[in-house]
Amino acid sequence: MTIQLFVPTFDVENCLKEVRECLDKGWTGLGFKTDRFEAAWKTYTGLPHAHFVNSATSGLHLALDVFMNEGGWNHGDEVLTTPLTFVSTNHAILYAGLEPVFVDVDEHLCLDPNDLLRKITPHTRAAIFVGLGGNTGRFERVREICRQKGLVLLLDAAHMAGTRLHGETPRADVSVYSFQAVKNLPTADSGMICFADERLDAIARKKSWLGINRNTYERASDGSAYKWRYDVEYVGFKYHGNSIMAAIGLAQLPHLDSDNDRRRAIAARYEAGFSRNKRIELIPTPNGCLSARHLYQVGVDRRDEVLNSLAGRGINAGVHYRNNLDYPMFAAHRLTCPRASRQSERLLSLPLHLRLTDAEVERVIDALNDCTLGEAHGERIDDGLARSTSA
Ligand SMILES: *Cc1c(COP(=O)(O)O)cnc(C)c1O
Repeated sequence: MTIQLFVPTFDVENCLKEVRECLDKGWTGLGFKTDRFEAAWKTYTGLPHAHFVNSATSGLHLALDVFMNEGGWNHGDEVLTTPLTFVSTNHAILYAGLEPVFVDVDEHLCLDPNDLLRKITPHTRAAIFVGLGGNTGRFERVREICRQKGLVLLLDAAHMAGTRLHGETPRADVSVYSFQAVKNLPTADSGMICFADERLDAIARKKSWLGINRNTYERASDGSAYKWRYDVEYVGFKYHGNSIMAAIGLAQLPHLDSDNDRRRAIAARYEAGFSRNKRIELIPTPNGCLSARHLYQVGVDRRDEVLNSLAGRGINAGVHYRNNLDYPMFAAHRLTCPRASRQSERLLSLPLHLRLTDAEVERVIDALNDCTLGEAHGERIDDGLARSTSA
C-alpha cells in the first residue's frame, strides 16, 4: 500500500458533536464557535489576541493591510521575505501593493539574519519569518534586528501550531496560523491572526468582515432594537472564519500536543535512521525549539530521481518548496538567494502524519537509504543500516 505524504486525522465524534451544536442552534457563521475557538487558542498559545479567519492567506494579507494603513506605509515599500515558502506568503505582500525583497535562508531553511541585514533599505517596513516545517531557525536574532531597525515582524506560523521556543509560543508583532486541511491542526480551511497590539486586533476584526464595526452575533445577543444598524469604518474584506470551521478546530485542539509528540517521535526515528548515511543531509532544529514538525525534510543529490524511485516503492514524498524565484512572477529577483535556490533542488519531505505506523516509517527509512546508497551509486553502508536492494 502506498505511504502518503500527509493524511489528516480527525476526532470524528467530537467534530460532529461540535458541528451539531451549530446546526441545532441555527448558527453557522461568525460568532458562537468562532468566539470560543479564539478564546481556546489564546489559552493554548498564551498569545494576548486571536482572531479567526477563513485562511492563513487571508490572515497574512489582512496583517499587512492593517500595518500598512496604521503605519502609513507607501505603495511599493519593501517587505523582507523568504523564497522557500508556500506562494501565499509572498502573494500576500503583492496583494497589499508592497514589494517583496527576498532574503536567503540559513541551514534551518529559515531567514538568514546576516542576509536580512544586508537587504534592509530605507524603504524596508517589515519582515516575514516563515517557521518552515515548524522550525524556529534564528527567529530570536531576526526579531532583535527588526526591533533595532524599527521593522514590523510578521510570523507566518502556518507550520507552527504547537511549536514552542524555550517553552513558549514564539511572539512576533503578528503571527498567522493555518488550519488548512493538511496542517497540524486541520479543519478544512481556516486560520488565526494573532496581533500583539490590542488596537490592531480590533481593527483586524472589523476589516475581516468588510469593515463592519459590530458583529451580527453581538447584535443578535444584546436584544437591541437596532440590530440592523451598524457602521462601516473601513473598506474591509470577506476574510472572517465561520462556526463550522471553528467547531472542528475546537474538537481538534485538545489533540494538538499529543499529535505533535507523535510527529516528533516519527522525526526522531527518521533522524536516527539516516544519521550514518552521509548522502542524506539532515536539517537541524535549533536549541530550545520544540518543533511542531509539520514537515520532515532532508536534502539529497539528484532529488528528482530519488523522488521517482521512492514513488516506485510506493512512497509519496513531496517538495517544500520550489524556490519561489523560479516562478515567472518573481523572475526579476532570480539570483538573489543562492542557498535557497540550491536547497530547493535538493529538498524532499518524507511522509509525516498520524496514521503512519512505526513499520511504515522503517520502510521509508530503508527505501531512502537504498535510493541514495543503493546499486545506482555502486556503494553500500556496511554498518548494518543498509538493507538488501535486490527486492
Ligand atoms: C499553508 C500555508 C499558508 C497558507 O495557509 P492557508 O490557510 O491555506 O491559506 C501560508 N504559508 C505557509 C508556509 C503555508 O504552508
